Amino acid sequence: MPVYTFDKLSEIRQSEFTVISFLRQFGILKEQKNCHKCGTGMSFVSRRKTFVWKCKKGICRRSSGLLAGTYFYKCRLPLRTLILLIHTWAMKFPAKDAFMFVGIPRNTAVNWYRLLQDVCSWKMLQAPIKLGGPGKVVQVDVNAIVKTKSGRKDGMTSQWVFRMYDCTEKYGFMTFVAKKDAATLLSVITEHVLPESTVVTHLASMYSGLDAIPNMNYAHLTINRSENFVDRTTGAHLNAVVGYWSRAKKFFHHMNGSLKNVAPSYLHEFMWRDRYGKNVDAAFENMFHHIREYQDSKATESMTPAQHNVIFFYFFTVY
Ligand SMILES: [Zn+2]
Repeated sequence: MPVYTFDKLSEIRQSEFTVISFLRQFGILKEQKNCHKCGTGMSFVSRRKTFVWKCKKGICRRSSGLLAGTYFYKCRLPLRTLILLIHTWAMKFPAKDAFMFVGIPRNTAVNWYRLLQDVCSWKMLQAPIKLGGPGKVVQVDVNAIVKTKSGRKDGMTSQWVFRMYDCTEKYGFMTFVAKKDAATLLSVITEHVLPESTVVTHLASMYSGLDAIPNMNYAHLTINRSENFVDRTTGAHLNAVVGYWSRAKKFFHHMNGSLKNVAPSYLHEFMWRDRYGKNVDAAFENMFHHIREYQDSKATESMTPAQHNVIFFYFFTVY
């Protein structure tokens, strides 16, 4: 039975205090805090329908906002609205429908969806996916998605999406690559496919060095697509990776309306959902867990400046 039903969400969103307790469960709002001016502990007090932190030291009297230092710091949406929006995101409501349901401006929904996607990107970069291993089969495939691009005569451009799927663990990895050549593809494979995997590819020259990569001991099986879909001798095929990509395309169409604006963060969101959001409850809860991990890492400055910039850009453009 799903946990986050309509009734449960209503319960969480009942009052400012229930919302705060919910965010505390995930560690997004802290149980205690020290005054940044004098270092004394602060207490949590109610003020004008909301809560603030207030320094316990009589002469200091410094107070700080409930959301200071959290991911939601610049958020002007009421938290109870935001919780509902995160749930519509977990349910894969496209932003164009979610904004009406939640009752907020469309752009706000679009921007918040992007922020959630950034959390997915951040998480996927923190814990890079490794596929395969001894006795496991990884299928590999690459092709182009055609995108429209302004300023070009033909108005079209294409971008290579390289995909891999672990048939045992049943999850995949995909990334944009600048070129479809041996150097590029083999380096992505070595980065994401563990040694001693069986790697299935098309019969193509760019994969010919696969079984000779030092220390990887890959077994390499090939399929000649022009002749057959399943190799008659080895039984090897690429059906799983083809299915993985068609699921991904369906998802991009559903959430985004088309494939033309698909950016790396969309691939990250799809991979994140595959791994952490198999159902609505998992996606909803893990998003809060990862927001907490993200804001903790920001506090310790362990992110690269580029990652900071992505997030800060959205912070200041949400409204
Ligand atoms: Zn103080």
